[in-house]
Amino acid sequence: MNIEQVKKILVEIKEDILKEENYLSELDGAIGDGDHGHNMAKGMTCVVDKIENINYDDFQSLFKDVSMQLISNVGGASGPLYGTAFMEMAKICKDKKELTKNDLLPLLDAAIKGIQKRGKASVNEKTMLDVLIPTKEYIDKVGIDNLISENDNICNYIKECCEKTKDIQATKGRASYLQERSIGHIDPGAASMSFFLLALMRGIKND
Ligand code: ADP
Ligand code: MG
Repeated sequence: MNIEQVKKILVEIKEDILKEENYLSELDGAIGDGDHGHNMAKGMTCVVDKIENINYDDFQSLFKDVSMQLISNVGGASGPLYGTAFMEMAKICKDKKELTKNDLLPLLDAAIKGIQKRGKASVNEKTMLDVLIPTKEYIDKVGIDNLISENDNICNYIKECCEKTKDIQATKGRASYLQERSIGHIDPGAASMSFFLLALMRGIKND
């Protein structure tokens, strides 16, 4: 996958998030302050405005720009969390002009590391990590050589993980203030993360 293909995936993520902006804010309204849709829509709009007309030499410079836009333009916790994920991904992409299937797991690991560096959460705390970490493990399990044949299964798994955040009690972020009342609602960050990963899987399928 080349830089233009990944830029196209980022544009698709922006479009998906703009379409689902109200849904993401409704989820956040139930267990947070109702701004997650707005935060992500603003962040991804700034990302696309920044990157669309730049010819990047390598993935490091692309991911750095994505990171900076998310960190500096999003008010909520999610901007710095997603931004740090892209910053860690940038670190392992110096001089990289192509991404292959062998880059996928290291990139997902880098994203996890970034989010954990910033937010100190692990699985089962009702956050975006409850989609990202199990999805990475699932891809590892089905095997990186089976990304195309397993594409639908991986997509279904991503959606299941998102749905399953309903059952978790939040112990990080704003939703943790609700304690057991946070149970029964999908985590908004898990939902936005599922849009990132589903767009990525679509991009991989069409590559
Ligand atoms: P805020 O909570 O500041 O209003 P958002 O509403 O944009 O920010 O984002 C909330 C989402 O951020 C949550 O649904 C959760 O997925 C994610 N989140 C919050 N705290 C953490 C954390 N410490 N680690 C990982 N993700 C987190
Ligand atoms: Mg919020």
